[in-house]
Amino acid sequence: MSDWELVCGLEVHAHLKTRTKMFCRCELEYGGAENTHTCPVCLAHPGALPVPNARAIELTILLGLALECEIAERAVFARKNYFYPDLPKGYQISQYEAPLCGPGRFLLPTEGGDREIGIVRAHLEEDAAKTVHAGGATGRSVGADYSLVDFNRGGTPLLEIVSAPDLRSADEAMAYLRLLRQTIRELDVSDADMEKGTLRADVNVSVRRAGEEGFRPRWEIKNMNSFRFIGRAIEAAFRQQVAAHEAGEEVAQSTYDYDDHTDRLTVHRSKEEADDYRYFPEPDLVPVEPPAELVERLHREIPRPLPSERIRQRAEELGIASAAELVATGNDWNAERLVNAGLDWKTAANIAMNRGDFLQINAVALARIVQANVTREALDEAFEAAATGAIKAEDFLSRVAVADEDALAPVIDAVIAANPEQAETYRGGKEGVLGFFVGQVMRETQGKADPKVVNQLLREKLRG
Ligand SMILES: [Zn+2]
Repeated sequence: MSDWELVCGLEVHAHLKTRTKMFCRCELEYGGAENTHTCPVCLAHPGALPVPNARAIELTILLGLALECEIAERAVFARKNYFYPDLPKGYQISQYEAPLCGPGRFLLPTEGGDREIGIVRAHLEEDAAKTVHAGGATGRSVGADYSLVDFNRGGTPLLEIVSAPDLRSADEAMAYLRLLRQTIRELDVSDADMEKGTLRADVNVSVRRAGEEGFRPRWEIKNMNSFRFIGRAIEAAFRQQVAAHEAGEEVAQSTYDYDDHTDRLTVHRSKEEADDYRYFPEPDLVPVEPPAELVERLHREIPRPLPSERIRQRAEELGIASAAELVATGNDWNAERLVNAGLDWKTAANIAMNRGDFLQINAVALARIVQANVTREALDEAFEAAATGAIKAEDFLSRVAVADEDALAPVIDAVIAANPEQAETYRGGKEGVLGFFVGQVMRETQGKADPKVVNQLLREKLRG
């Protein structure tokens, strides 16, 4: 299998963070009671007309600019026709030939330099409603043979980002997706949360011989909402396609489902040709012509440095892999706070990855406590305290145990030097004298020394 190459592209869907839906004024509410945010427009009553959400257009352009896309001077909404119970109009308003954001690129920092992942397009569309099987996990009657539709999601604004088939491994696809998610979040375009369903991905996979030009038929795995499963599905598709090609079997272009129990892909249904959707320009909407001033303003609003750029900056201290992990999880700002408070990058990165979000208010105090080399238990206590409110490093350090050997060693040396007779008694075999020394050290440290560490250090030093 070694001379086969993976060819993978992702279509990423993100729910836009607008107040209202794409073409009507129904409010967006995550987890709202079913069918409480609907109106004649998003329920497709006859004669109801769509009005585009200006903020959704702005957010799409903002993301497009961050992906170095060309912004269309004239973008056209199109009808994508298909019949499904969660689509009351019988078509979805999307963009087809003239998307809002044209070709762009996304830079993925790697050990060997930046990998450039092409962005084919980023466009705006409305989401379908949500079908809930009545017998399912959220259903009312287990075993029911009917489904219910929640139209709250119907007509909500959705951004679709289509990458070129430039990804060459499951790891690379996930690194791209993680970094793209973080970029979307920092632009405040979307929550981009897979668990909440505000981020989903369609995965396209094909294989070819190393050095081969062109592409072989691809498999499309739709609506993936777990990073782990995306990675596993890509690897399974690679294995199955290589096996099929090597066995001389036909690999047909199809939609596939990934089954995590068998770790295999099975055919979902034959892929519709694009023509099946009978795309045509939406007659109820005029084309979108973003004014140059708007595009310029949005360009200035991009918060910089963007994640890709920050990985390269942090990589000097951490290496690419750790820097990428830190940035893609949004933890690098917290790490930087700790660095500014005096910690080294590696320690800071480790704490930021493992200790949550409260460093924003307590970075300086926490850095001082970390530097004091307190016990593991005391450190846990400090982070717990920091999570619920501000803490003062001095107050905290004055009452926790000191376990730092470097801090305790001089105290112990001094105590031994001041009591030569007792030291001699100990060396003569009377181990009971140890208690006397522990008591002296505890007195010198006002009871803050960690007795376990004191005992161990005393034994070593008295023996020496
Ligand atoms: Zn509505």
